[in-house]
Amino acid sequence: MKSAIEVLDVFDNIRRAQRAGVYAPHKPLLILLALARVQHGKPRLVEFSAIDDRLKQLLAEFGPTGAAKSRHYPFWHLATDGHGALWELSGPRDILKRPAGATPSLTELRAHHLKGGFPANIDAALRQIPGLLQAVALRVLEAYFPATLQADIAAGLGLDLEGPTEVREAGPLTTVDTSTQRRRRDPGFRERVLRAYEYRCCVCGFDLRIGLSPAGLEAAHIQWHHVGGPDIEPNGLSLCSLHHKLFDLGAFTVEPSEHRVVFSQHAISGGRGVAGELQFHGRPIHAPQHGDLLPAPEFLAWNWKSVFKKPARVPFKDPAPNSSSITSG
Ligand SMILES: [Zn+2]
Repeated sequence: MKSAIEVLDVFDNIRRAQRAGVYAPHKPLLILLALARVQHGKPRLVEFSAIDDRLKQLLAEFGPTGAAKSRHYPFWHLATDGHGALWELSGPRDILKRPAGATPSLTELRAHHLKGGFPANIDAALRQIPGLLQAVALRVLEAYFPATLQADIAAGLGLDLEGPTEVREAGPLTTVDTSTQRRRRDPGFRERVLRAYEYRCCVCGFDLRIGLSPAGLEAAHIQWHHVGGPDIEPNGLSLCSLHHKLFDLGAFTVEPSEHRVVFSQHAISGGRGVAGELQFHGRPIHAPQHGDLLPAPEFLAWNWKSVFKKPARVPFKDPAPNSSSITSG
């Protein structure tokens, strides 16, 4: 069985391979799903077909457009990360001996009953060392997902993150820092962004205060901070808590020419109709105090490409594939 430090090191090595600027939720969602299975006392290895629907649903909800199509990639590719230190596959020999680049199709994975899971020495440590599973899950969540979505993802998987705040191993006590080595956030970012937009949600105008303090108002990163987005006003939007969540879920984005709110065709407003969220579709955002503070095109392009759930509602057009320019109709 591996020690807590060794297990955390294996997961951290996968994390470090994350390419700056790219939102890639496939691997972390598979890892979190596997952690939830361990926490629920399920067997170490699982057939791909048994988790396929769950992965599809998670990627559709929390991933960029079309992410679910490649949901089986990490099930295969994680096995070569760190020379198999993190993920083990079991199945017919002629499939397993394929070169790493020859990813089996969804049909092949199902037909050959391929199974995957953490190697026995990691699986045992996760089950036996109190607090280790939670520490790994928190690190993965913080490394890959914005704060607005972390609790929803954990809840969606049934992952219980409550637990010891330190990892305790039998024998000599090992105290592990359970916080991630995140890029440091600029503590002034929130204040500067809220001030730029005069302390109101730039989508709906929400501006409640409790006493002198703005309440339920947040500074959202347009290009997410944990994938390289800077803490500057042109990468920020002042949003109420609801619009911050909807923005990070890709329900809407902002187009760069007239800074209009663009809702996704996937965002459906049920009974409330035009009086609901969709009333903001096509409206310009409440502008910041000065033009220099407006959202910059490169960050808006990142958000449209990486987070927004395409296609856009009319009359807006999604940027052509392989093109960084965004046009509005
Ligand atoms: Zn709002």
